[in-house]
Amino acid sequence: MNPYVNIHTHHTGEGINIQDVGEGNAWIDKENQREREEGLEVFYSVGIHPMKLEQVGEDALACIEDTIQLDKVIAIGECGLDRRSPFSIEEQGRILEAQVALAERYRKPLIIHCVKAYSELIAIRGKTKSTVPWIIHGFNNNEQILQQLLGHGFHVSVGAALLNARSNAFHLIRQVPADWLFLENDDKEIEISVIYRAASGVLGLDVEELKRMMLENYKKVFAIK
Ligand SMILES: [Zn+2]
Repeated sequence: MNPYVNIHTHHTGEGINIQDVGEGNAWIDKENQREREEGLEVFYSVGIHPMKLEQVGEDALACIEDTIQLDKVIAIGECGLDRRSPFSIEEQGRILEAQVALAERYRKPLIIHCVKAYSELIAIRGKTKSTVPWIIHGFNNNEQILQQLLGHGFHVSVGAALLNARSNAFHLIRQVPADWLFLENDDKEIEISVIYRAASGVLGLDVEELKRMMLENYKKVFAIK
């Protein structure tokens, strides 16, 4: 049986987890917790969330650069752009670009948070000429945006929105090519298995097949043998 792959979570659960530990300060605590949680496979992503720019100091980027060099930190994020932030999109873009530079230097994929700033996000990807994978997490937007993202080579991760039959994610997941898709539970108190069951229902695939496909994508994107 293949493990579940949870591409973006804030708390660990069954299967392979990529746990978001913010800008890395909490990393050691989380690592200790992991040691106690047997049977889980936990990896980490570190990054500066656009809605947390206020809380993190100027040294956050340096902190990330330290933690990203650890083997268990396999991605940068979640980072990105959010129209609701008190910081301008330009300021957010500057912090994002710095994280893209780190992702390139250490060859680690990016986990992207984006709210109402997709064209700016796509522009930054182009401007930085980034060659590492970018994974849009928690996708629940319209068809046009989905097609733009896919057209620009973004991977798309879908989460709890799948549990709502009226959501964009529910209606559009079939448009994501199978090898560009990921699944996640983010900060929701929902087991990753529940998300997989929902996706399997919408996609008409059995859960084992879906797990096999997601594991395959994970290995490819994170260059795991
Ligand atoms: Zn998150």
